[in-house]
Amino acid sequence: MTDLTDEVVLVTGAARGIGAAVAAAAAASGARVGLLDIDGDGVRETARRIGPAADWATCDITREDQVDEAVSALRESLGTATGLVNNAGRNAYADVVSMTTRQWDEVFGVDLKGAWLVSRAVLPGMRDLGRGAIVNIASLHATMTCPGMFPYASAKAGLVGLTRSMALEVGPQGIRVNAVSPGYIETDLLAEYFAQERPEVREEALAKHILGRLGTPEQVASVVAFLLSGAAGFVTGADWPVDGGMSARFA
Ligand code: NDP
Repeated sequence: MTDLTDEVVLVTGAARGIGAAVAAAAAASGARVGLLDIDGDGVRETARRIGPAADWATCDITREDQVDEAVSALRESLGTATGLVNNAGRNAYADVVSMTTRQWDEVFGVDLKGAWLVSRAVLPGMRDLGRGAIVNIASLHATMTCPGMFPYASAKAGLVGLTRSMALEVGPQGIRVNAVSPGYIETDLLAEYFAQERPEVREEALAKHILGRLGTPEQVASVVAFLLSGAAGFVTGADWPVDGGMSARFA
């Protein structure tokens, strides 16, 4: 089903976690993959593990100069990107009143603006080819959230809005744009979240999952690879939950 032969897929936040799994899944489906991450050593090591189909660039997605330079370098080595996965993101916890504007800008820079900057850098190439697919990694928090997750939930809701709007803008040029909204996925990010919460929070989270388990990065990656592929050729402007059924529950 998921054939990415001859595709060139860029993945942000690809040093570890969901991004590393997405890059590996795309390469396993036949794509050449360009890995971008702020963690240069980590992204180089992940690219090395994937093998000759992978190249990498150090890049802070909030910096437009670094984004343009990284996308251009990967175009030189891999070819024009036909796929993009805007995956880099960070958790953010803040109080509505005491949060500073600087903190707000930092969170929205990574969790929303970065996806637009990288999309802006790859879209001209996709338009020239007349095809392409973008997948934005949003979150269950885009549609339902819990106290303490402000402003992460706001930024991720914005990312789903960006997904819909970009899908409308670039659909006529043959480019599809979708979001994937993971629930609890076992990565370092989730470990950091559990570490700062009450010890029972992990068990409480498990109890909310219809499937009785948390997700793996590979389970998100297989859905992302499908959405990048021609098998999802009639899917655009959509937000796909990968959350073990959490968003299907009322209580
Ligand atoms: P991880 O923290 O494990 O990995 C994220 C990667 O992105 C890290 O290598 C990180 O580098 C990198 N990164 C962070 N900021 C930037 C930046 N400005 N520019 C480039 N790279 C950056 O996260 P996950 O794999 O868990 O999450 C991936 C995505 O999935 C995120 O957008 C997250 O919000 C979303 N998500 C995750 C869920 C989960 O349960 N894990 C649930 C719902 C959504 P460094 O480590 O140096 O900061």
